[in-house]
Amino acid sequence: MNMKTNKFLIIAAAFILMAFITGYIYHRGKHRHPFRYELDLVSLNDWYEGLVRKDGGGHFVINFDDSGPFDFSNDKDTGSDSLRWSSKEDDYFIVYYPKDMDPRTGSYRASNCLEVAHRAIPDLESSMGRYYYPQDVMDNRKLSIYLPGNDAAYTRIINELAGTTVNSENSIGMTISTVTQCGPVVDGIVINPYCFEPGVSELDGYRATLRHEMSHYVYFMALDYGSNVSHPLWVAEGIAEFIGRQQPQISGADSIKFIATQCNLDEEFPSDGRLQLASYWAGESFFKFVSDSCGVKAPAELMSTLYDYSVPVALSSIFRDSDPKDRWLESLRQSDTLRHPEYLDPKANHVKN
Ligand SMILES: [Zn+2]
Repeated sequence: MNMKTNKFLIIAAAFILMAFITGYIYHRGKHRHPFRYELDLVSLNDWYEGLVRKDGGGHFVINFDDSGPFDFSNDKDTGSDSLRWSSKEDDYFIVYYPKDMDPRTGSYRASNCLEVAHRAIPDLESSMGRYYYPQDVMDNRKLSIYLPGNDAAYTRIINELAGTTVNSENSIGMTISTVTQCGPVVDGIVINPYCFEPGVSELDGYRATLRHEMSHYVYFMALDYGSNVSHPLWVAEGIAEFIGRQQPQISGADSIKFIATQCNLDEEFPSDGRLQLASYWAGESFFKFVSDSCGVKAPAELMSTLYDYSVPVALSSIFRDSDPKDRWLESLRQSDTLRHPEYLDPKANHVKN
């Protein structure tokens, strides 16, 4: 063998070795999810604690997990409880209902929820600026929806998904999420069996509740957890009520006075007292106002900024130099003019006709 052949063989061997190493690394890593951000668990926990403390309704649970590697598929959806559940699924959702429920009832409820969930997608896209289909989620995860048959099963599946004991008393629906360094995942939405009872008000029915919880799904998938921007609860609950109900409850002098004196947009809304849970009703009223006064696309514009930035930054992108709270109050006074003449501006008496 001459010198030239030797050199050629060494170079060829080096290439083969490099190709082998690259292939090995690729195969080892191809099922792993890339890291999206460093989780600052201390500040995230502060943010989360803030939400929990203020959330009298208990609508969601967020876990933070920095252990990895993660399997986001639906394979372990029902965990150790798997024998208790039947399911119905399509391309986007899996709905679980109890095996021991009358199969016609279980299947009927699951089909109805699949339909409600599909119909909610365009509303979520138009009001929140996005939706997360399985192809947008790690491991092509479908959104899991659980329909337990009684109170005990409701509590049990929530605790199972959350991996801890959750105070779900008084809640009619719950969204459980986990934030990892590779991104967020929604473990599931659980609907209280109460929502299916005959005679339950439309506002507490499974349709409104599922739409509300689905808005939490979009919100928690969209948030940039690396930005460490904390958001007041009224953003999450306000947009959820706006989408879930589509009928603002706000009316009356008391409510307007309460908003004027106690609801500052860059802070938490009060969650105690007579007009409790202001994050829900006053938050909803604010999004309704944004839609009515700035156009139907404005809530989505606002939300799209809120996923990454603070409330004051997001509000200034929509309202420029005008004060959103002044305008909100003004619009409430106007719309309540006929029902609440005490709010009539004396100069605007001609409005009443
Ligand atoms: Zn909620």
